[in-house]
Amino acid sequence: MELRVTEIFLSIQGESSHAGRPCSFVRLTGCPMRCVWCDSEYTFYGGEKIGFEDIFAKLAEFGCALVEVTGGEPLVQKNVFPFITALCDRGYEVLIETGGYVSTEKVDERAKIILDVKCPASGEAERNYWPNLERLRPDKDEVKFVIADMKDWEFAKGIIEKYDLITRSKEVLISPVHATENLTEIAEAVSLSGLKVRLNLQLHKYIWGAEVRGV
Ligand code: SF4
Repeated sequence: MELRVTEIFLSIQGESSHAGRPCSFVRLTGCPMRCVWCDSEYTFYGGEKIGFEDIFAKLAEFGCALVEVTGGEPLVQKNVFPFITALCDRGYEVLIETGGYVSTEKVDERAKIILDVKCPASGEAERNYWPNLERLRPDKDEVKFVIADMKDWEFAKGIIEKYDLITRSKEVLISPVHATENLTEIAEAVSLSGLKVRLNLQLHKYIWGAEVRGV
């Protein structure tokens, strides 16, 4: 079996409660969404078809126990589901970073899901697939809101409350759009909120810069 892959690389996990950990990344090609602030538009097209065994060999070379499957939107390729299961079978700790448009129902239950909820400034909030929120597990799954402005923050607070996300998930991540002029305002609002959420800055962009790929 094969997947269409944009890049495979070893780096530091830049986001979520796993930030700072060494992590291998398998970045799949393709995404049906078009978020205004998307930082991985280069995944929309192209890529290379790579067999599972060749991907496993590359990951074995890296020798890292943590693997993230990301994109683009990784869950649009149907072969990703047996691929995730095969990674789990090999003993990897597996993270799935998904944009929240595709159902997570078929993801192997051993994998940990980091689920985006798209806010209004993304331009894609109408496409959130809400049943995904009901499948979150408090011991392993995380939910991420990318926030561009205070309207997004108000939207996020409403969804956190409506779906009881603090109880339902392991972490609620509040992720300001990189280099937004609203960063201080968002951080202050988070600190004053009294909510058990985590401000999520993208560590890799501070280490290597926002435009560098494969890190
Ligand atoms: S879902 Fe992710 S990859 Fe797709 S457009 Fe939005 S930010 Fe970009």
